[in-house]
Amino acid sequence: MILVTGGAGYIGSHAVYELLQAGHQVLVLDNLCNSSRQSLARIEQLVGRRVEFVRADVRNRAMLSSLFASFPVTAVLHFAGLKAVGESVAEPLRYYETNVSGSIALCQAMAEAGIFRLVFSSSATVYGEASQMPISEDCPTGQPTNPYGQSKLMIENVLRGLAASDPRWSIGLLRYFNPIGAHESGLIGEDPTGVPNNLVPYMLQVAVGRRAALNIYGDDYPTPDGTGVRDYIHVVDLARGHLKALERLEQQRGVAVWNLGTGRGYSVLEMVRTFEAVIGRPLPHVICPRRPGDIAQCWSDPGKAWRELDWRAERDLTAMLADAWRWQSRNPHGYAQPAKTLAATG
Ligand code: NAD
Ligand code: UDP
Repeated sequence: MILVTGGAGYIGSHAVYELLQAGHQVLVLDNLCNSSRQSLARIEQLVGRRVEFVRADVRNRAMLSSLFASFPVTAVLHFAGLKAVGESVAEPLRYYETNVSGSIALCQAMAEAGIFRLVFSSSATVYGEASQMPISEDCPTGQPTNPYGQSKLMIENVLRGLAASDPRWSIGLLRYFNPIGAHESGLIGEDPTGVPNNLVPYMLQVAVGRRAALNIYGDDYPTPDGTGVRDYIHVVDLARGHLKALERLEQQRGVAVWNLGTGRGYSVLEMVRTFEAVIGRPLPHVICPRRPGDIAQCWSDPGKAWRELDWRAERDLTAMLADAWRWQSRNPHGYAQPAKTLAATG
């Protein structure tokens, strides 16, 4: 059985779906601070199986110990954490405590229970402002400019130290580039609370009429069209990368780092144009000053995951945005209301 912490969230829910489809037993632990039980209900609807769910906090070590005593867990996918960059600047202690202390409590309880296979959700943010593109795993990590990014780097270091101290550990650090999109059913997807920080959720909310116009943060970067460039990856491809990492970690010990990206960067304006083609109408947008802390460009060298995991991203940008749009247009208010039926939306 695989424990998925944060399994009700955006990426975790897609991983839970893929695990179930691949025949795994899954146990989800989530305190629902940034997600809804609805995501799991939708997955149950899609796969026709029940998802074991425990509503609890990953920092609660005693609870984790009793969970491991009650369920035959063999490996953990660790998604649970806080991820809003701006919020992390305002509330650093909450971020370090949840992300770093939560990961430590999890590892302590795992070791006590004799479970040593862990896949951790890291981020390309650990590279900071890389001097050359594409970014491969041997590029040095940089200085993340905010507590969120720092917490990811700290956890990576904690996990490296742990693996160095005890050869039984098999740990995968998955450095995600920019996950977007949704499951092709339109039943599960990203449902941010409040004003979205990220580009695609914001574009989607403009398209459904929840926001007036997209703010494009800067058109004076040293990029081909002046707007920021990122490596967007379909969340389903990303989720499948976790299953490949889990398999690989059955055969190798220590810490391994894998980038999960497509190897291609798109600018904000290219994103807007592609999205306009998907929805068949213009997307209102305005050029604004740069957002503090943003880097100009970032894209991956995904070759290591291809060589070692036999994994590569398969979905192109149009598929990512079409799937994101199917989710948002059928669930304009996310999980807050029942999905419209396929027949009703055509
Ligand atoms: P999300 O907020 O949708 O999912 C995180 C889940 O963790 C939520 O369901 C939340 O309720 C849960 N959670 C938070 N604190 C918890 C706690 N103390 N105890 C138990 N559960 C808790 O975010 P996501 O986009 O699915 O991200 C998943 C992971 O991937 C996070 O660790 C995030 O930092 C990392 N990541 C995300 C991105 C991205 O762009 N979405 C990029 C790189 C890395
Ligand atoms: N961006 C933007 N408007 C928004 C949100 C983001 O122009 O409302 C830009 C941002 O400056 C960056 C790109 O879109 O160049 C991706 O931003 P996002 O926050 O999605 O990802 P991250 O910056 O964390 O890579």
